[in-house]
Amino acid sequence: MAVSYKPQLNYLDFRDLTEQIQFQSTEGKIWFGEQRMLLMHLNALAAFRREMVNSMGVERAKGFFLRLGYQSGIRDAELARKLRPHCSELDIFLAGPQLHSLKGMVKVVPLEIDIDQDTGEFYGKLEWIDSFEVEICQTELGPMDQPACWALLGYACAYTSSFMGREIIFREISCRGCGDEKCVIEGKPAEQWEDAEEFSRYFKADPIMEELYDLQAQLSSLRISLKKQQGQYYGIGQSASYNKVCKMIDKAAQGKVSVLLLGETGVGKEVIARSVHLRSERADSPFVAVNCAAIPPDLIEAELFGVEKGAYTGANQSREGRFERANGGTIFLDEVVELTPRAQATLLRVLQEGELERVGDNRTRKVNVRVIAATNESLEQAVEAGRFRADLFYRLNVFPVKIPPLRERVEDLPLLVEHFLGKFHSEYDKQTLGLSDKALALCMSYGWPGNIRELENVIERGVILTDNNESISEESLFAVSPLVNASPPADCVDTGGKVTCSQSGGGPKDWFEHILGNGISLEEVEETLMRSALERANQNVSKAARLLGLTRPALAYRLKKSGILAET
Ligand SMILES: [Zn+2]
Repeated sequence: MAVSYKPQLNYLDFRDLTEQIQFQSTEGKIWFGEQRMLLMHLNALAAFRREMVNSMGVERAKGFFLRLGYQSGIRDAELARKLRPHCSELDIFLAGPQLHSLKGMVKVVPLEIDIDQDTGEFYGKLEWIDSFEVEICQTELGPMDQPACWALLGYACAYTSSFMGREIIFREISCRGCGDEKCVIEGKPAEQWEDAEEFSRYFKADPIMEELYDLQAQLSSLRISLKKQQGQYYGIGQSASYNKVCKMIDKAAQGKVSVLLLGETGVGKEVIARSVHLRSERADSPFVAVNCAAIPPDLIEAELFGVEKGAYTGANQSREGRFERANGGTIFLDEVVELTPRAQATLLRVLQEGELERVGDNRTRKVNVRVIAATNESLEQAVEAGRFRADLFYRLNVFPVKIPPLRERVEDLPLLVEHFLGKFHSEYDKQTLGLSDKALALCMSYGWPGNIRELENVIERGVILTDNNESISEESLFAVSPLVNASPPADCVDTGGKVTCSQSGGGPKDWFEHILGNGISLEEVEETLMRSALERANQNVSKAARLLGLTRPALAYRLKKSGILAET
């Protein structure tokens, strides 16, 4: 039977519902029928709601409250059916709005209700007066830009859907929480709403964890691509020789061949090796770096290829070697020339057959590892001296890449300096003004025998010794000022304003060390001194002699003997 009229809620008819409430105070319980209830502070709920909105945003918070109301709507529909078995459809239905009122959530005034449980027809329009959620908005959140009676709406949807046995959706067509004059809701079967599907999504729990995991995955893939970029030889350099190396390693990265990195100590071979790895198809697999010189010869085989329990005294446990750990990825063998003959033989087998046996084991294991080897001494010479297997050398030398020393790419030095300054500023939480012009000039003319590693150490020292907002001086870069490529000492102005010869820089002991340390002969020293003196004296021999503390004939004799005079 269809019922369609404007019903009045008679609050005396509540009695069957109010009787369900039992305060069992001594037990710490309140009952509503068979459901345990809570009497809680509206303020507390308001604060909770504000926190939800602030931490998860309006849409997610709205979903939570809609679902909160939904859960209690389902239970109340069950109760209503139980309590009013012999009543009219409408009276049973009205238990819902009455319960809402009874719980102190809102006063409900039905405006229009059409119900037919047989055909499933439903239309409802109700006004909400003094919604607790509007009050929350007024006290805690401030006005919203959309209807705000979320939990009430969830309740209405669930209660009516359960009552009708089909999905009924209510919407708030106006709400005081967003500045309207009244809170009015309208309900009808889901299919009569155009955006029913979109709205129904609020009723599905939408775990924020999934979104977080998703973001985490994106973050880690961003980190990998960042690493890939940074893996490009510190990502820094414009010199021709640097570009040549970049092109070479780009080519090497694509293939599967072994790569042999050649170059002085400190040129950044491990960084290049990592860069080859990161630009290859193996980028997501392990990169394992081994310095062969750092491992005692009697342990190197076990370290690289693994060991079986009992293989030798002290091998208490079987363990995999670096090659097995690098499986699928890349292994970087620095100072490969240090490998023992047996380790060389095993490495050759890995390269040729892709298999190895652990020390003390006879089981053959397959490994798929790309080898990048490096050395700062000539492998050819080691082969000639019988220290390195020729066949292994040919195998490793398929794709040799020579990395230039820093002094051959001095134009990259300012960029490298910037890079290391950035690194150490953040590491030491400092902000210097960078190198003074003189300090930079010194760096540009210094020979850097320790290459990029030495530069890195020097900049680190400079950052440590320099205060915030001050320039890094020569003295803070180098503990002992290096003697720079025989450039004449610069003139400077002394405290009296007189132009004098600079006495700064290394004392006599330093250049003495430098000369001996670099195997410079006495003849070379003498010749360099005389040439420099002549240059400063504009080729005037008398003047040059005075600079050197010699008589003119004495200098002339020496100049003649060394063949300099004949040139000039
Ligand atoms: Zn409202």
